[in-house]
Amino acid sequence: MTIQQNISLLPFNTFGLEAKAAHFAEIHSVKELRHCIRTGIQPIMILGGGSNMLLTGDLRGLVLKNSITGINLLRTFKNKVWVEVGGGENWHQFVLWAVRNGLGGVENLSLIPGTAGAAPIQNIGAYGVELKDVFVRLKAVSLETGKMKTFSHHECRFGYRDSIFKQEERGKWCISSVVFSLTKHKHHLNTSYGDIQRTLENNGVNLPGIADISRAVIQIRSSKLPDPAQFGNCGSFFKNPETSQQVLQSILASHPHAPYYPLENGLVKIPAGWLIEQCGWKGKRVGNTGCYEKQALVLVNYGGATGAEVKALAHSIIQSVEQKFDIRLEPEVNIL
Ligand SMILES: Cc1cc2nc3c(=O)[nH]c(=O)nc-3n(C[C@H](O)[C@H](O)[C@H](O)COP(=O)(O)OP(=O)(O)OC[C@H]3O[C@@H](n4cnc5c(N)ncnc54)[C@H](O)[C@@H]3O)c2cc1C
Repeated sequence: MTIQQNISLLPFNTFGLEAKAAHFAEIHSVKELRHCIRTGIQPIMILGGGSNMLLTGDLRGLVLKNSITGINLLRTFKNKVWVEVGGGENWHQFVLWAVRNGLGGVENLSLIPGTAGAAPIQNIGAYGVELKDVFVRLKAVSLETGKMKTFSHHECRFGYRDSIFKQEERGKWCISSVVFSLTKHKHHLNTSYGDIQRTLENNGVNLPGIADISRAVIQIRSSKLPDPAQFGNCGSFFKNPETSQQVLQSILASHPHAPYYPLENGLVKIPAGWLIEQCGWKGKRVGNTGCYEKQALVLVNYGGATGAEVKALAHSIIQSVEQKFDIRLEPEVNIL
C-alpha cells in the first residue's frame, strides 16, 4: 500500500465531481488502516463507494478508500445465520450473494450503491426494509488511536437515515466489518411496499421468494433512478421531513391530496420529492445541474457541474420549500 499525493477523486464519487485529495491510499486490511493512522496525517476521511457524498472542494489530510473485503459465516442457528461482511465489500454484491445462498433479509435493499461499511452510517433503507432490521453488531477502528471497538445495535442508535456515526461519532471511526442476521427458511417477505406487488404480478410470480423480490426491486429501481454512469447523482438528496399535525393541516388546506404517512411519535412524514415538485423544481435544470425529471428528490450532474453548483441548487430548493410550506428540508447526502 502506498500513500499517494494530490489525487483526483472524480472516479471515486457517483456525483462525478472533481476534487483533489492531498493524500490518498487504498486499504485492504485493518493492519494497513493502522499503518495509515500512525503516519499522523490528519484529518482522515474514509471513502466507500462515494455514493452518498457531495464534494464541494479539495480535501486536505488523508482519504482512505476502504477495500477491506470478505464475507464469512460466523454462526448458524436453527433458522438464521450470522454473516460478517468486510466494510469495503460492495453492498449490492453482498445482497446478490445472500440471495444466491438462499439467505433472506436484505433482498429489498438490492441495487443500493456503496459499501457494507457505509451502510450502517445512514441506516440505509428501501422498500419497507432498513439495515437496522438485519443488523447485529459492527467493528470499527478509531481514526485517532487505531483501537478497535465493537458497537452493538443499541450503541449505533439507528434512526431514519441516521445513526450515531452521523451524529457525535461522525468522522471518528472506520467501520471495518458488519455482522448481519439472515434467515435460512421461513423468510419474512416484505412485498407490500411501493410497486413490488405490481411488478411481481407483471412478472407472473404468485408465490414469491427472496430472488423474485430482489429481481423486482432491481427492475423498479432501474426504471426510476438515474444511473450514475449516465447522470452523476447520489440518490435521494434530502430526507423526507417529519412534521407536526399543525403544519400538515395547513398544507392539506391548500393541497387536499398531499401525501403523508402518520408516525408512531404523533408526527407525520411528508415525501420531500412531493414538496420539491410542488415548488416547480422537478425536471428543472440550472447550469450543469438540476432536479431529475422522474424524481424531484434526486439532484443530478448533467456533466461538468461543480460541488458548489449542486450545493447552491440544494440551498435554493431548501429555501423555496421553506417559504411555501414552512418545512426545512435536511440533506441526506454528506456535504464535504
Ligand atoms: C442511485 C443511488 C441510489 C441510492 N439509493 C439509496 C436508497 O435506496 N437507500 C439509501 O439508504 N441510500 C441510497 N443511496 C445512498 C448511498 O448509496 C448509501 O448511503 C450508501 O450506504 C453509501 O455508501 P458508500 O460506500 O458509497 O458511502 P460513501 O459515499 O463513500 O460515504 C458516505 C459517508 O460515510 C463515510 N464512510 C464510508 N465508509 C465508511 C466506513 N467504512 N467507516 C466509516 N465511515 C465511512 C464517508 O466518510 C462519508 O461521510 C443511493 C445512492 C445512489 C447514487
